[in-house]
Amino acid sequence: MHGFSYKQGSLHCEDVELKQLAATYGTPLYVYSGGTITDHFRRLDVALSGVPHKIAYAVKANSNLSVLRLLAAEGAGFDIVSGGELFRVLKAGGDPAHCTFAGVGKTRAEIIYALEQGIYSFNVESEEELRYLNQVAGELGVVAPAAVRVNPNVDAKTHKYISTGKSENKFGVDFEAIGGLYERASKDLPHIHLRGLQMHIGSQLTSIAPFIEAVEKVTPLVRLLKQRHGIEFWSIGGGIGIVYQNSLESGAAEWWQQRDASDAPLTIECYGKELVPRLQELGLKILLEPGRYIVGNAGVLLTRCLYEKKGLAKTFKIVDAGMNDLIRPALYEGHHDIVPLIQPASDAQVVVDVVGPICESGDFFCQDRALPDFQPGESVALMSAGAYGFAMASNYNSRPLPAEVLVEGGSATLVRRRQDFDALIEGEL
Ligand SMILES: *Cc1c(COP(=O)(O)O)cnc(C)c1O
Repeated sequence: MHGFSYKQGSLHCEDVELKQLAATYGTPLYVYSGGTITDHFRRLDVALSGVPHKIAYAVKANSNLSVLRLLAAEGAGFDIVSGGELFRVLKAGGDPAHCTFAGVGKTRAEIIYALEQGIYSFNVESEEELRYLNQVAGELGVVAPAAVRVNPNVDAKTHKYISTGKSENKFGVDFEAIGGLYERASKDLPHIHLRGLQMHIGSQLTSIAPFIEAVEKVTPLVRLLKQRHGIEFWSIGGGIGIVYQNSLESGAAEWWQQRDASDAPLTIECYGKELVPRLQELGLKILLEPGRYIVGNAGVLLTRCLYEKKGLAKTFKIVDAGMNDLIRPALYEGHHDIVPLIQPASDAQVVVDVVGPICESGDFFCQDRALPDFQPGESVALMSAGAYGFAMASNYNSRPLPAEVLVEGGSATLVRRRQDFDALIEGEL
């Protein structure tokens, strides 16, 4: 489910007309459907209901305070990757006791901050980090709750830049080394409480097979760690993929299933049905760290067409959003459907590149794609931009950050002002 559809020929987010939002707040503009975010959270919660679990939303996917507040109200925990994200979670009313802290490069200041706030677990990515955590906790006279991230060496079959569970990735500790590490830590590191085990094999996984493979491979290790070290949780990570194609067609689910007939489609129901029975008998609390699944399809980026430029080889639609606002296509060949805010009268299409104003050839949203022939002055929506959209935005080319709006039913709230020029140079001396 997502909250975007044409009503009387005009694209809406829930009950709010996007054209109206573009006129009121200007473009580029991120718009989020609050109903979609809570729906996704609840559906995952239901799909996992057969096993004790906690959903720790991966803050890095979309860290707007209002999005975090919405999820905190649903009872979400939070998976953070920096001190700044912990600060945001606290500001949004999130409970630090339900926060896990991931990432390969935690600094001393971040470790101290998280210890002081009493987070649930440090998800540690190397023996060196575990020893350092022990040292810092000792200096503070506390015991740090921790889980080590296991790298199970399975292929997530996703883009190489967002694959994390192979031995050649920088993440986690090799599967074979985990048992020995827990043995040494339990003897040598008195300021560490080994509370769980964590894994996360990659992002935008579009089939269930790699999840099953990782869970089945790691299950014996989890059993051993529970028996030897009394761990209480296993975090199976995030990575649930979403549909980026055909986002406005009711046939999206069908497309999803036909996409790879040899493989079970990755719906959230399938995820629960396949994984819950495999996890149930472990008698552990299962943590999940979804980011994209919760917010990806819940957001769009509205952008206005500035010019049409016809070259010898190509036609370019130049829009007012750039790779600084949405970097996924440039960074890892991310796809976003491009949909006019006013439903085109005919099915006629033109083959174009949609590009931004940034001085980089990588600054495009699509290349050689057949699209309705939208004109300068008209706005379009870049669909499925709720995850890793604004969160990765930058000021490159000294472009102020876009505004963000949260829609709930018929009401739209500005949840982040458009940055102005003064804010752009704030802090520079
Ligand atoms: C990024 C990340 C996630 C979330 O990934 P999604 O693909 O957005 O679900 C979860 N856990 C860890 C450790 C991550 O780094």
